[in-house]
Amino acid sequence: MKILVINCGSSSLKYQLINMEDESVICKGICERIGIEGSFIKHEANDGKWTVEVPFPTHTEAFAKVVEMMTTGEGKVIDDVKEVSAIGHRVAHGAESFKESTLVDDEVIAEIGRLGAIAPLHNPAHVLGLNSAKAVFGADVPNVVVFDTVFHATMPRKAYMYAVPYEWYEDHKVRRYGFHGTSHKFVSLTAAEFLGKKPEELKIVTCHLGNGSSIAAVDGGKVVDTSMGFSPLAGLLMGTRSGDVDPSVVSFIAEKTGMNGTELSQYLNKKCGFLGVSGVSSDCRDLEIAAGEGNDRAALTLEMLVYQIQKFIGSYTAAMNGLDCIVFTGGIGENSASTRAKVCEGLGWFGVEIDAEQNSKRGLAVNDITGANGKVKVLVVQTNEELMIARDTKRVAFGE
Ligand code: ADP
Repeated sequence: MKILVINCGSSSLKYQLINMEDESVICKGICERIGIEGSFIKHEANDGKWTVEVPFPTHTEAFAKVVEMMTTGEGKVIDDVKEVSAIGHRVAHGAESFKESTLVDDEVIAEIGRLGAIAPLHNPAHVLGLNSAKAVFGADVPNVVVFDTVFHATMPRKAYMYAVPYEWYEDHKVRRYGFHGTSHKFVSLTAAEFLGKKPEELKIVTCHLGNGSSIAAVDGGKVVDTSMGFSPLAGLLMGTRSGDVDPSVVSFIAEKTGMNGTELSQYLNKKCGFLGVSGVSSDCRDLEIAAGEGNDRAALTLEMLVYQIQKFIGSYTAAMNGLDCIVFTGGIGENSASTRAKVCEGLGWFGVEIDAEQNSKRGLAVNDITGANGKVKVLVVQTNEELMIARDTKRVAFGE
């Protein structure tokens, strides 16, 4: 069985064809600059890589090109598009309408479109992708939507409500939703399997640290709290996002600068975080180099990151009344040994201790970096959101 995993942005379409017999990647690629001049596709298959410039007025032409690349030429991996058994789509926001990965029909697409009111940057693009997939692959291929929010749908009310007028929740759907759910689910399940335990037996804090970062408290396989909120802007400081700030700062800066709500939101999403504090870069590697060369603001940014991660781990240990395992994942979590070491150094009281040599290793699917006297397991898990989407798609479309 082959499953095509799709992640549509407003001007891009990422794809991966996965062989479900051994969960290997058959081919992958990206269409960029859809609807913009200079569009192209990058396709990787059969140990080769191709970049082809081709006009993509809409996502439909991009999908058609993906099919062409998969079925013809040197990058060919299937004889006929009918070999694709199902398509799994990553969707950013399911809000309270979707509590599970879902088989797509017209009403599902319409509801994802309506949720564009609270996810304007993402959901409209997903609707374009869903409609284009139907147009190019036909009605016989099942499409499944897998939401970034769904794994967090188990949060109790006390964790997801904000202390704002209740009508904001009822009328405008204002609450904590959480994101990166597919990654938190994948790494928490992988951690349980690695530890030889059922997810129900474990209290895990999963730290997804990348350009976007979020932390989740996973108690017995269910999320009980997470750091992102109504949008992915909340929680930890990130590459260019501020994370949590006192909301009064926003109105104060609006008055000082004359920026309106949209401009401020752009600012908080694109000019803050690592970039805003350090003035150096939004990239953790650049900060580590700059801090090593004595740049004080780069060093401060990294200190803030470590401190905020520690505070989330501490508060989620309290929220779960215990902690069996910490998982690090995402570009920073998987690769920055120094971030992991500094975070764990400050958690000795919790029974966290890591093995320095094991922590320096890279590239393992799961790396157990727990120290000899560590009471809490500390794992580095390579996330694989595409595989999680493919597994969910198979389950929803065809049953276990
Ligand atoms: P995204 O959220 O866009 O998927 P990633 O998960 O790929 O991002 O994470 C990107 C981040 O990972 C960047 O800040 C990058 O600097 C960081 N990163 C990647 N490799 C390393 C490394 N070896 N050391 C420190 N940080 C790294």
